[in-house]
Amino acid sequence: MSGLTTPSAAIPFPRLRLWLPAVPVLLLVAYLVLMDNGAVSQTGAFLHELMHDGRHLLGVPCH
Ligand SMILES: [Zn+2]
Repeated sequence: MSGLTTPSAAIPFPRLRLWLPAVPVLLLVAYLVLMDNGAVSQTGAFLHELMHDGRHLLGVPCH
């Protein structure tokens, strides 16, 4: 036995190519919904009020 093994459950490249661009988009959406409060989106309290119930549903503290 050499001790070197090849990974048997490698992620297939086409599937990885599908998900890689989605990760920054999902992170941006999560930031806007959970933490923004108008600082980056410049919407004032609009985005906060729009997402308010969803934030509470997810357990994000806001007030
Ligand atoms: Zn609240």
